[in-house]
Amino acid sequence: MAQPRILLLSLGGTITMTHSAEGGIVPTLTAADLAATVPGLDAAAEIETLSPLRRPSAGLTLDDLIGVAATLNRRLAGDLDGAVVIQGTDTIEETAFVLDCLVTGDKPVVVTGAMRGPESAGADGPGNLLAATIVAGSAGAHGLGVLTVLNDEIHAARLVQKAHTALTSAFRSPLAGPVGLVAEGEARIVLRPNRAPVLTGPLAPEAAPVALLRMGLGDDGRLLAALPDLGFAGCVIEGMGAGHVPEPLAEIVSAIAGRMPVVLASRAQTGPVFCRTYGYPGGEIDLLRRGALSAGLLSGLKARLLLQLLLRAGIARPDYAAFFADP
Ligand code: ASP
Repeated sequence: MAQPRILLLSLGGTITMTHSAEGGIVPTLTAADLAATVPGLDAAAEIETLSPLRRPSAGLTLDDLIGVAATLNRRLAGDLDGAVVIQGTDTIEETAFVLDCLVTGDKPVVVTGAMRGPESAGADGPGNLLAATIVAGSAGAHGLGVLTVLNDEIHAARLVQKAHTALTSAFRSPLAGPVGLVAEGEARIVLRPNRAPVLTGPLAPEAAPVALLRMGLGDDGRLLAALPDLGFAGCVIEGMGAGHVPEPLAEIVSAIAGRMPVVLASRAQTGPVFCRTYGYPGGEIDLLRRGALSAGLLSGLKARLLLQLLLRAGIARPDYAAFFADP
């Protein structure tokens, strides 16, 4: 059987980082450098490489990812069978989600990285890169949307979260678990989530800054009230529990929802925002009535990115709900 043709596209991250003379590790290696160190990679796929960026993932921007999505859409329309995006694990859940919103077609796109640098004992980069390439070249991964693969686990972009700062098992999908795993050199898909709607139209070049606010006990709302005058185009509130804020903030939510889209997520990170349970002022029924939109099952981090994309895509506000709905 012909080998799959897979593009490895590197943006940087720990997986590419080596020791610098100034101390600490910094991104230096390219996708081609990485590919050369992975035992068995050439048996898994015919590899092409591209290294547009060499950054820590905290330094990536939404515009970088819009550019990556355009490259992937262009390249995957040709004879590539799939792609692996290599980047830092700190923001992988965001990158994978943005690509999931923007990459069209059914061919697999897999985002991977490493928790340990390539010079450390037990470096996880080579194994992650091999597993990601196997998934990107597998028939079973078609139509699943963008995936992340680390520690031999396959996660859906909408569900995955970085849940630990250090362990190689840092990635979790607490809502539903991973969609599969890599074992004996093969991708085994065990769950097939529905694909969320993809934004296919043009995106405005101007940024649409969206604030992400996490509610804490006794929050007095001064930050929330200040947002419209700080130049934000939208706001995501990570409310308490199923989507709640302290009572005095309810009026502020009404006021800012009249000026910009306000999306309600949960600081619990996992589980749906409720819509018909709590009736007190500042509860979810009240906030939704005041004009907040539900983030559904999306984390605040992902809801923030989706709202930025919707604003830049010029989607009409009444149509936002379809993008936040559970696919
Ligand atoms: N700690 C990060 C990583 O795992 C650094 C980064 O995200 O670039 O890659």
